[in-house]
Amino acid sequence: ADFFRRIEAVDPKVRAYVTLNEAEAMAQAEQLDRRLAKGEKLPPLAGIPIAVKDNISTAGLRTTCSSKMLENYIPAYDAMVIERLKAAGMIIVGKTNLDEFAMGSSTENSALFVTRNPWDLEAVPGGSSGGSAAAVRAGEAALALGSDTGGSIRQPAAYCGVVGLKPTYGRVSRYGLIAFASSLDQIGPITRDVTDCALLLQAIAQYDKRDSTCIDQPVPDYLQALKQDVKGLRIGLAQEYLGEGISAPVQQAVNDAVRVFRDLGAEVVDVSLPYTQYALATYYIIAPAEASSNLARYDGVRYGHRTAEEVSDSVALFMKTRKEGFGPEVKRRIMIGTYALSSGYYDAYYLKAQQVRTLIREDFNRAFQSCDLILTPTAPSVAFKIGSKTKDPLEMYLEDICTITCNMAGIPGLSLPGGFDQGKPIGLQLLGPAFGEATLLRAAYGFE
Ligand code: GLN
Repeated sequence: ADFFRRIEAVDPKVRAYVTLNEAEAMAQAEQLDRRLAKGEKLPPLAGIPIAVKDNISTAGLRTTCSSKMLENYIPAYDAMVIERLKAAGMIIVGKTNLDEFAMGSSTENSALFVTRNPWDLEAVPGGSSGGSAAAVRAGEAALALGSDTGGSIRQPAAYCGVVGLKPTYGRVSRYGLIAFASSLDQIGPITRDVTDCALLLQAIAQYDKRDSTCIDQPVPDYLQALKQDVKGLRIGLAQEYLGEGISAPVQQAVNDAVRVFRDLGAEVVDVSLPYTQYALATYYIIAPAEASSNLARYDGVRYGHRTAEEVSDSVALFMKTRKEGFGPEVKRRIMIGTYALSSGYYDAYYLKAQQVRTLIREDFNRAFQSCDLILTPTAPSVAFKIGSKTKDPLEMYLEDICTITCNMAGIPGLSLPGGFDQGKPIGLQLLGPAFGEATLLRAAYGFE
């Protein structure tokens, strides 16, 4: 009840939530109270209020992807992560705003409304999981789930001064996550601190055969990992992430963090990731290509929006529906993706991009032979003003320069607060080898 009161007080300003789940949440809380009163022992996260990004399916609770296309869509089933939250007794507070279909870096691409940064209401919260990050920072939920295809958990976490983790590809089931780019998408925690992050990851990481890319790997005890100290860890620094385009205060924050890690007994080594320079171009072929295919299902027939206009045939139905239902960024991605996949261009663009993706992955494999994790900025600067980057899509894409390689390599990445610039938080990113979440959490906890 306290959280809903807090939401009433601050959400008219922050606008993190698309849908609230108040009646259901209160009923669940009362039920937990009754079980407690009977002396029952509840799991550790029981009763904790959590916010869920609105591209994660919740049975009976509207799931919009912040798109007109799904504005009235009520899923018939829960995503695997939602089943896990419910099994842990957690309470879903509501569904949070995002860039439409998770395409964007500021939440300004939401077809519903813009979410604001709790540190500065004139600034963006980052994106695409801007609603989740803002909700946690503004005290409108204790924890949140986001999704990350090219930085969408980590960059909003950085901009809102919270912790965000994109797990290894295959660590968390994508079952019930509305697909953007299936080979890059992962669900992960957005939390106030590293301990919460470890707890939430523990709750959602589990093999699930309904996601064919989910990997059957034992799940370590992440909380236990926090108890080991940072001493002896080898932290890699890559010049490719520290040069041009990164603001001076952000560079300074990385330097300060290096000092902290050294003081904690870590060893700092130089690594090189030469293919980083091609990452942005590669990502903006692969992600739109997969999106164009995934979004083909919104045709006005199966579910979602359907044009109310009189149509002469099915092609006209598809066209009118999609014209009305998708916003400009989604249309842009579908066009780029369809072009890159079309016959005659496939080899030149999509195939090439996949080859470069392999080189990026090999860069990391090589680097992790001489270090345990890599420290970079999460974003080139701090949260920018609302409206300042909406005119030029390329400028918005540059936001993702530090975060997208992680998705392309399938490795885990964690963003944690590492200082301030002009009163707004700076995010530091830790990248680790596949299934290295425990090491990332351990280093982040030591730093925190
Ligand atoms: N900003 C990136 C994009 O627009 C990443 C989005 C995401 O991770 N979902 O594609």
